[in-house]
Amino acid sequence: MSVVVLAEHTGGKFKKAAFEAVHYGHLTAQSLGGNCIAVVVGNSDDARQLGVYGASKVVKVPYEGPFDSRIYAHALGAVASQNSAHTIVVNHSSTGKSLCGRLSVQWDAGSLSQVNSVPVTNEAGISVKKPVFSGKAVATFKIEGPRRVLSLMGNAIAPQEVSSPCPVEESAIELPDSQVSVVETKTVDGVVPLPEAELVVSAGRGMKGPENWGIIEELATTIGATTACSRPVADTGWRPHHEHVGQTGVAIRPNLYIAAGISGAIQHLAGVNSSKCIVVINKDPEAPFFKVADYGVCADLFDVVPRLTEAFRKFKSQ
Ligand SMILES: Cc1cc2nc3c(=O)[nH]c(=O)nc-3n(C[C@H](O)[C@H](O)[C@H](O)COP(=O)(O)OP(=O)(O)OC[C@H]3O[C@@H](n4cnc5c(N)ncnc54)[C@H](O)[C@@H]3O)c2cc1C
Repeated sequence: MSVVVLAEHTGGKFKKAAFEAVHYGHLTAQSLGGNCIAVVVGNSDDARQLGVYGASKVVKVPYEGPFDSRIYAHALGAVASQNSAHTIVVNHSSTGKSLCGRLSVQWDAGSLSQVNSVPVTNEAGISVKKPVFSGKAVATFKIEGPRRVLSLMGNAIAPQEVSSPCPVEESAIELPDSQVSVVETKTVDGVVPLPEAELVVSAGRGMKGPENWGIIEELATTIGATTACSRPVADTGWRPHHEHVGQTGVAIRPNLYIAAGISGAIQHLAGVNSSKCIVVINKDPEAPFFKVADYGVCADLFDVVPRLTEAFRKFKSQ
């Protein structure tokens, strides 16, 4: 019996999310029984390193094409069946999200997305927790039956080094032909993608216009943060759509979320209120964001943000 985990990578390099998923798989295997087996679709020279986060072995499935949920689901399902797995773990990323449903049908398993705790066994199967009602509550779900597919929320489990590099075996699984071809790829270079970012500086309509974003970018660069924004800001084209966080945007869980000139509407909070520390800068003392803030600065952001940047600069130069 084992837990099979998809270790996502880009061009052979693992993202932090892959280490989170593998470590979560290791903790799940400890809780439910068995070993953690990491699956790498495609090639990575770093595959052995997944052992450090708790994989007992890595199965590499040779594949050179673009991401295709049919192929990945086939590979994961086959490795799971070959190793009598009881659980498949993926990240709650765009890749993981597109695999969950397909895998649960194909592998005849119960599925639960965006979990943030290690499952425990109960009389009928397992129980595991996930946030509900736009992150306002945490619910415990039961999955009955012997098989389940879980997608792990980003930043929910810190990846810890628990062991040493592990063996890697190459799988002989026959994959179906891909039905996907990539027409164009646009990448954002030089920044940590929002779902993986530990520090995020975000701004909203209080910025008045795109020409004022320099102070936000300066603050973000000074502390090594990724920039984000509220939805109307992306909708009006002040900022690119990939920066939009919230219910209909990216859901994030950074260690620090600084929000300047954002009111804190429920749809915005849905994507950010799991952040570990929230700092709100808003000139309206009635702004709803203050209710969920760990630190609140009730003042004009055009005054506060540059002073905050300056304070961080001084602190870093000490
Ligand atoms: C179905 C649905 C889904 C949605 N999904 C999302 C989502 O995913 N993400 C999202 O963000 N929104 C989402 N929204 C929109 C959401 O309801 C809010 O309208 C939006 O979040 C407001 O954006 P904002 O806070 O930037 O702007 P505003 O509500 O206009 O707030 C601007 C804030 O800036 C403050 N401010 C102004 N000037 C200054 C200054 N100089 N210094 C300091 N503070 C200042 C104001 O006091 C105010 O609180 C959704 C709405 C719907 C209906």
